[in-house]
Amino acid sequence: MGDLLRYRRTQCAPRPTFESFGASTRFRLQIGLFPRCEQSFGSPHHYVQGRRYRLDIVATEGRQSVALRDASTLELRLHPDTSAAEREQLLQRWYRRLLRPQVAELIAKWEPILGVEVADWGIKKMKTRWGTCNTEAGRIWINLELAKKSPACLEYIVVHELVHRIERRHNDQFRELMDRHLPQ
Ligand SMILES: [Zn+2]
Repeated sequence: MGDLLRYRRTQCAPRPTFESFGASTRFRLQIGLFPRCEQSFGSPHHYVQGRRYRLDIVATEGRQSVALRDASTLELRLHPDTSAAEREQLLQRWYRRLLRPQVAELIAKWEPILGVEVADWGIKKMKTRWGTCNTEAGRIWINLELAKKSPACLEYIVVHELVHRIERRHNDQFRELMDRHLPQ
C-alpha cells in the first residue's frame, strides 16, 4: 500500500470538470462543450470520438461485433441471450481497441516535440480523471472514456500528461509549456 500512497502523491490529475483546468481557456471550452455521455446501456445514443451515434442492436447467431455502420449508427450484433453486462463489456473492448492506436500515435508524435519519454502507458476506466501520470516511473494512464471524446481533447490530455514528465505540478511553468505547445 506504500506504493499506492506514493503513486497518489506523484500522479497528475486532470479531472473531468472544467473548473479544475486552471488557466487553459481552450480546455475549459472543450470540456464545456462535451455532450454528456449517457453510460447506461439503455440509452439510444453513444459517443465515439466526439460524435454522437444512435445505438442499433441487431440479433445474430454468428460472431458478435461492434461497428460504426454509417455516419450516425453504432451497430452491435449480439446473440439474443447476451446479458447487459456482457454487451457493455463488448462495447468497452471495442472502445479500447479504438483508443489504443490513437494514444500510441499521439505519444509517438509528442515525445520528440517535448523531448520526453514515456516508460510505460496504458488505458483504463477512471471515474474522476481523464488521465494520470506517475512522474517517477514515467508511466501514464489514459481514461478509456476519452474514446468517446473528440480527437482534440484526447490529444490535449496526452500532451498534458507528457508535460508532467517535465513539470509535475500545475504551476506557471506547466501552463506556459501547455500554452506554448497547444496555443489557445
Ligand atoms: Zn496534470
